[in-house]
Amino acid sequence: MTTKDASSLSGRIIDFHVHLPLRDASGDVSRAVEVLLHEMDNAGVSTALVIAIEASPEILRRHVTPELLRSAVQPLAYDWKALTHPTLYSIMTDPEGVLRDQVKLYENHLAPSELVAEAVNASGGRLLGVASYCRLNSPEEYVERLERLRRDSLIVGVKVYPTLHFIKPDAPELEYVYDYLESEGLLLIVHTGCDPGIWELPALCTTANPRYLEPVARRHRDLTIIVAHMGSYSYLFPGIYFAEALRLARSHDNVYLDTSATTLHQVKIALSRVGVEKLLYGSDYPYFSGLHMSDIVEAYLEFRVPGWVKEAILHDNAARLLASLGLRLPSLGGAPG
Ligand SMILES: [Zn+2]
Repeated sequence: MTTKDASSLSGRIIDFHVHLPLRDASGDVSRAVEVLLHEMDNAGVSTALVIAIEASPEILRRHVTPELLRSAVQPLAYDWKALTHPTLYSIMTDPEGVLRDQVKLYENHLAPSELVAEAVNASGGRLLGVASYCRLNSPEEYVERLERLRRDSLIVGVKVYPTLHFIKPDAPELEYVYDYLESEGLLLIVHTGCDPGIWELPALCTTANPRYLEPVARRHRDLTIIVAHMGSYSYLFPGIYFAEALRLARSHDNVYLDTSATTLHQVKIALSRVGVEKLLYGSDYPYFSGLHMSDIVEAYLEFRVPGWVKEAILHDNAARLLASLGLRLPSLGGAPG
């Protein structure tokens, strides 16, 4: 059965959540595209949404002080798992140094939207771009930037990182951006759960609770919202907002869940609580150490659920969603145009 599933899905899989492997390519975009396409080919992935990551040291300094870090880590002082977490341990002794390291972490992991657009253009139609929200400019300026990006490249949506951007998804300043996405038929992807580094602190990741998307989903019924990581992303508290993500996707037609950085056990729970049609396969490549994209796809192909369920998660739901946005890609079997 596995062989049959593998052969029918191979080459058609749509990955709704990948990032540019810029570090593996020493910062070179065309090399990063090569590495990414090679991974996709080996995993039988035809199309991937490649997501930009933007964060700013200025925004970080504006929202986090060493004192804040010190008080945020206090409740974890007797948590053995937290004490083994290098960042959280360092906060107790050198919070200023932790903030400096966090800025260095940015330098290593950021992928500006312009680079993602460049990668999309160099991918021969295999990659669809997702820009990153950026809080440095006004919402109006950000939308102008998006328009420029879309003029030159296939950008299908925007990702908001409530952690990195220190913003609740229902913040009034995002309304202007949401209105634009909704009227242009673009996707909204929202990071949920914790994030590496200081965002493992529960006090700093509460903004990434999917519950803040509830009013957004209600106000913008024509906006397709994807809850990345199903509220679960966390090293210390895996599944931290899983229940909230399930509740949201279950009660709103326009809310989907992406499976990146979650376990198959959670996917199984989501299947029964929310329904197969709301799940989109995502790998979060290259952010899983020691694994290839093909290892993750393989785990899904061996997942003990009926073949049609795998088809839905790894291909059909994504293809339907992209088609509903008017995307007719040759790689998705649509008419040219
Ligand atoms: Zn990601």
